Amino acid sequence: MTHEDALRAIVGDKGIVTDPVARRSYEVGARYDEGIAALVVRPATTAEVSQVVSYCVSHGIAFVPQSGNTGLVGGSTPDSTGTQIVLSLDRLAQPLAIDPANRLVEVGAGVRLSTLNDRLAEHGLTMPIDLGADPLIGGMVASNTGGARFVRYGSMRRQVVGLEIVLPDRVGTVLDLTGGLRKDNSHADLKQLFIGTGGVFGIVTRAVLEAQRLPRQTATALLVPADDEAVTTLMLALEGQCGEYLSAFEGMSRNALERAFAHVGHLKNPFARGEIPPYAILVELARSWASREGEQPLDEVLETVLGGLFEGDAPPLADALVGRPEELWAIRHSLSEGLKASGYVIAFDISLRRSDLARFRAEIVGVLGTEFPEIAICDFGHICDGGVHFNLVHPGKPDPAYLERIRTMVLDFVVGRYQGSFTGEHGLGRSNQAFYDRYAHDEVKRLSGALQSAIADVRVGNIHLGPFISRGEKD
Ligand SMILES: Cc1cc2nc3c(=O)[nH]c(=O)nc-3n(C[C@H](O)[C@H](O)[C@H](O)COP(=O)(O)OP(=O)(O)OC[C@H]3O[C@@H](n4cnc5c(N)ncnc54)[C@H](O)[C@@H]3O)c2cc1C
Repeated sequence: MTHEDALRAIVGDKGIVTDPVARRSYEVGARYDEGIAALVVRPATTAEVSQVVSYCVSHGIAFVPQSGNTGLVGGSTPDSTGTQIVLSLDRLAQPLAIDPANRLVEVGAGVRLSTLNDRLAEHGLTMPIDLGADPLIGGMVASNTGGARFVRYGSMRRQVVGLEIVLPDRVGTVLDLTGGLRKDNSHADLKQLFIGTGGVFGIVTRAVLEAQRLPRQTATALLVPADDEAVTTLMLALEGQCGEYLSAFEGMSRNALERAFAHVGHLKNPFARGEIPPYAILVELARSWASREGEQPLDEVLETVLGGLFEGDAPPLADALVGRPEELWAIRHSLSEGLKASGYVIAFDISLRRSDLARFRAEIVGVLGTEFPEIAICDFGHICDGGVHFNLVHPGKPDPAYLERIRTMVLDFVVGRYQGSFTGEHGLGRSNQAFYDRYAHDEVKRLSGALQSAIADVRVGNIHLGPFISRGEKD
């Protein structure tokens, strides 16, 4: 019996992708990463995942977990050897169980974020992670997705109350950590190991998530800061005066905005005479109840706060535009598409201390302008959480030596000079393994490898966290 026959016996015909076009969509990632799969296997239940994993581990077959395949770091696609199986979790879409009394939802790892949100909206609830892609829940847990509303709701880690995991060992052990308790100090909180670690410790098959109340009132505006330094002043003023109402503070550079307006057809340019400022910030306030009598509506709250920021000798605010929220958010969510359509994107998903953002930007713009004048700096980012998509656009695909030189230069700056992170929210994968190897502390690598060796009988996926003791050596 071939491996394909054996796996087909577990998952059925529907669980093996043979059509070459369909198969390609599992082999090609969202950003320049692609490979060749030995096979694409799509189990439909936790029991099938367990059997597939057990079979692969027992036969020494390498596999890569995949969910929505929207990851941007080469974590979810197979390499070019043609030896890795893609273990797609996209059929794990069992019916959702919404528990309004506990404000919890139990969800299969293969459920899409938009589907979950459609269902939660019927109960006045939402899963508040907001991003320009529509991933699956398992992939979001495994990459600890951040997104535009981190300032208010945190990342995926904050939403996870419980997980069901299949461990990459010979029996495909199913670990049930779905107790549904928000607080529980009676044992080690093992679920944290599986959040943001790209599947290396285990495969997420089910999650219990805390749902948030759906906003019933929002106010949105585009701010133009007086200069780069004013971005921090505006952030602190909005945090100080709007408190927990502040739900987004998204910075966008002129270069990024220009490319979105040039390449994404349906966008409306809201700036006066279409003149794009050097930097703009999308601000959103939200609250979960409609206006009550005698209570200032949110748009008036925002107007009052912004009015104060135009005052004084050196006001931090140069301009503020109020527009339809969906039109303003469409601009933010089109930035990646605009960049991709305008050249080759050299992406950096960095994170810094918020107080360093303006200084970093000023310094690196100077250095890049001198050493790499052909590059356009098209940064945008979540600012309040210190996250910046410091994306560079090159006119064509640069050669590997050029890419290595510019990546090392920028990241040495971020990590070496500013003690920042080379992956703020996209996680680890083939594309940034070299930077993990270069920047992660030796003790972190040693401990991560030891943990992985203790839990797993094989290495999973495209990420090597540290020295791994393989199954044979353990025996
Ligand atoms: C236009 C665009 C905008 C984006 N914006 C943001 C953003 O603002 N913030 C942000 O954080 N990310 C963003 N992303 C990146 C991406 O969407 C997120 O990382 C997302 O959470 C990945 O989920 P996925 O379902 O696509 O997972 P995949 O890409 O399929 O997988 C991601 C990683 O998790 C592993 N994995 C997948 N499923 C499982 C599972 N069930 N169990 C264990 N491991 C698994 C994979 O092996 C891989 O390492 C964006 C992507 C795009 C294309």
